[in-house]
Amino acid sequence: STALVWLRRDLRLFDHAALFHALKHHDCVIPVFIFDRDILDPLPRADRRVAFIHATLAELKAELVACASELVVRHGQPTTAIPALAREFGATAVYANRDYEPAAIARDAEVAARLAALEIGFETFKDQVIFEQDEIRTKTGGMYSVFTPYKRAWLAKLDDFYVRAYPVRQYAHRLALLPPQPWPSLSELGFEPDEAPALPAGCSGGETLFNDFCTRLDRYHETRDFPGIKGPSYLSVHLRFGTVSIRELAAHAWRQGGAGAETWLSELCWRDFYQQILWHRPDVAGHAFRPEYDALPFPNDPALFAAWCEGRTGYPIVDAAMRQLNRTGYMHNRLRMIVASFLVKDLLVDWRWGERYFAEKLLDFDLAANNGGWQWAASTGCDAQPYFRIFNPVTQSEKFDPDGRFIRRYCRELSALGPDAIHAPWLAHPIGLREAGVRLGTDYPWPVVDHAKQRELALALFKRSGH
Ligand code: FAD
Repeated sequence: STALVWLRRDLRLFDHAALFHALKHHDCVIPVFIFDRDILDPLPRADRRVAFIHATLAELKAELVACASELVVRHGQPTTAIPALAREFGATAVYANRDYEPAAIARDAEVAARLAALEIGFETFKDQVIFEQDEIRTKTGGMYSVFTPYKRAWLAKLDDFYVRAYPVRQYAHRLALLPPQPWPSLSELGFEPDEAPALPAGCSGGETLFNDFCTRLDRYHETRDFPGIKGPSYLSVHLRFGTVSIRELAAHAWRQGGAGAETWLSELCWRDFYQQILWHRPDVAGHAFRPEYDALPFPNDPALFAAWCEGRTGYPIVDAAMRQLNRTGYMHNRLRMIVASFLVKDLLVDWRWGERYFAEKLLDFDLAANNGGWQWAASTGCDAQPYFRIFNPVTQSEKFDPDGRFIRRYCRELSALGPDAIHAPWLAHPIGLREAGVRLGTDYPWPVVDHAKQRELALALFKRSGH
């Protein structure tokens, strides 16, 4: 019998739950991918993620063609395209890996219903997380909304079974033998190419980054917080699109042990944590996790928001971070925390505005992690930063970019300033500024707000709302 494997955020052909199960139960398996108009049509025409997916699929297609199979690609709405493809190829079942985002859950329910009407099965599997949905439960059977006990339970449950790879290769001969299939170019899909990709795409790109990271994993706990050095893995986009296997990554860190690997495993656990929050509480997409914090009266000044987006707030660490995001689609984790805190607690802009901007720009944008990160920084989330903990952007900068190396990379106009002046140029001696060729207000902005003043306003705003 024939089955389709519908690839979504799992763009690889190894250690793949849905592909493995399809190959095990059917003697003819066809991998398909739909460029989803519902997702793509609202996007700007230059979107790095679409370019990443396109390059990744090109690699997958070549891999399939090398074993006489093919990748079937369509551009349309999955709710109609998947049932149509299943009929076209005479499939008796469609296999896919589960996606926990509310829109994906609704889409999959509709696809399942339409397939059922054609008497075609729709089988879904856990693949993108180690533990999903309510696999990790509190003693009373509820969800965890605090990370530390969740992580304790997650680690206690982790064993070889949960990180074992799906041996896809042993059934590879069951991939359908297909004639050459149409392959839409990026421009046919209505998108521009990414002229300067920040990260290598495809499973080959994921493997290169992972191998490189393995050589510094044992130092991760010491290096991860400093954006000026190569500390983290840069694998987030690959985890987002499944060009690496979460099981392989978690198994590696778990087996290696030691402070670096344990800290990194903990980050992978955060990823599961926010996925289960989103699954249990789909309302967090749009609303505060704690309903009492949903309607904080943010002034939402559009001019301040624009300065933040464009990296011209006058706070060098914030501006360098936002420029990194705008230029590359990536932002270091420490910087995400700093700029999110700054937007909400210094500029007094609703966290949802920042969340939306990140969603548009981040190559690794993931609803669960992004929402979790924003609600953490805004103090509206589960296990969030308490509202009175407000990052000071200058001391954060001095602590995590001590010599200003990261700032200089993205704020070139400040590159001649020394470590004493680069974190807060408005406090620098005018002679020093002149010698470094920096005219505040001309070459680089004055701070758009005064941190000490804004801090008081933020505290008052949160207090007024009954925190
Ligand atoms: P590493 O340090 O190498 O971490 C390894 C992996 O662990 C990451 O790739 C990611 O999958 C996972 N991870 C690490 N930290 C977290 C976390 N706090 N929550 C969930 N997963 C985590 N991560 C995203 O993948 N997509 C997002 O849209 C996203 N938005 C964020 C928004 C804000 C405001 C904040 C504070 C954090 C956000 N994060 C997001 C989490 C984190 O910043 C990124 O995962 C990380 O910076 C990616 O870089 P890396 O792969 O080099 O990370």
